Amino acid sequence: MKKEYSKIQLRRGKEESLKRFHPWVFSGAIEKMPDTVEEGDVVEVVSHTGETLGVGHFQIGSIAVRMLSDRAIDVNGDFYASRLGEAFGLRRALGLIRDDNNAYRLVHGEGDFLPGLIVDVYGTTAVVQAHSPGMHFARNLIADALVKLPDAGIKNVYYKSETTLPYKASLDPQNDYIIGSFDGNVAVENGLKFHVDWLKGQKTGFFVDQRDNRRLLQSYSAGRRVLNMFCYTGGFSVYALNGGARKVDSVDSSAKAIALTEANVKLNFGEEAQHKAWAVDAFKFLADMPQDAYDLVVLDPPAFAKHRGAIKNALRGYQRLNAKAMEKMPKGSILFTFSCSQAITKEQFRLAVFSAAAQTGRRVRILHQLTQPADHPVNIYHPEGEYLKGLILYIE
Ligand code: SAH
Repeated sequence: MKKEYSKIQLRRGKEESLKRFHPWVFSGAIEKMPDTVEEGDVVEVVSHTGETLGVGHFQIGSIAVRMLSDRAIDVNGDFYASRLGEAFGLRRALGLIRDDNNAYRLVHGEGDFLPGLIVDVYGTTAVVQAHSPGMHFARNLIADALVKLPDAGIKNVYYKSETTLPYKASLDPQNDYIIGSFDGNVAVENGLKFHVDWLKGQKTGFFVDQRDNRRLLQSYSAGRRVLNMFCYTGGFSVYALNGGARKVDSVDSSAKAIALTEANVKLNFGEEAQHKAWAVDAFKFLADMPQDAYDLVVLDPPAFAKHRGAIKNALRGYQRLNAKAMEKMPKGSILFTFSCSQAITKEQFRLAVFSAAAQTGRRVRILHQLTQPADHPVNIYHPEGEYLKGLILYIE
């Protein structure tokens, strides 16, 4: 028998965005709801006239409901198994599951119709992050469905939500294995090997979202002196060395990141690689570095704008960073520059980079415009899911 969920009724007209498949209900759109509804509950959303608009996870805050379906379905283990099966089918169709590639994003929140849920897979381990209380409460159902996914080969599920859940909700978040245990952490991406530290690393331990852009960097690396700023686990550095770079220098302010980068370079190329790594602030490194030292530079900073209020300062930060790099780069060099701030649009980022070019007076051309890869799909009804932006520039 179908389960009855508490009903949340919307104000007149507020059903419109749900009918256009946008997956969020804002708190201001709610007419009434029972007092018994608790954070993380599955709720049924109905229009002013009582028409069913679907079911979703309730949460206290400006986004009140994250929709799971536009029908009144049961949100149970079968539901998660079916959504995860669809997500896996897409990754397989994308050609991401191969002997020489076992690192990929399996679930990208709204982009996979599972708002509030992120799952990255590294070989036999899935790392799960919940961004909503509803997904936190569903973590055991999700873990069970992950290890049962046909052909995915997932044996261990590590749950890592201490930093992703809304801090006001006292949910007792955990960072621990829900199923299985540690059985190695070397993942393979496009034939290159990486130690992935989901226990102590940032996010799920690795930035799978730069896979395609790293491969593009590899194709530009032959014979070049490469500087990888904000290197984290050294993804771009490893691809640059693989592409025949003359030398690669990696920079990150975190000593832990530098140790990971060095370990990953060693894992692929041994001790002999032409690579050095520096634990230092990026702006300081750029200020101190000599003119014309590198002819391929990567700038992949952390999100400068974590929310809309920080946009103006963030844009100034992108401009300053890019200008500092551009002014030191020789004629004929190449700059890979990124922003992963969701609050900043493609146009705003491009304008910040344009300002940097104008400020330094360099002749700059755009060779490629980059974005997030296909295993981070954007639900067309939820353009907010698009966050990674990049430009490859030719500097003269
Ligand atoms: N390019 C990486 C991801 C970068 S994440 C990849 O492909 O995996 C951003 C990194 O910037 C983090 O590792 C963080 O430690 C580092 N970072 C943050 N602020 C910094 C600063 N001021 N100077 C140098 N590195 C910084």
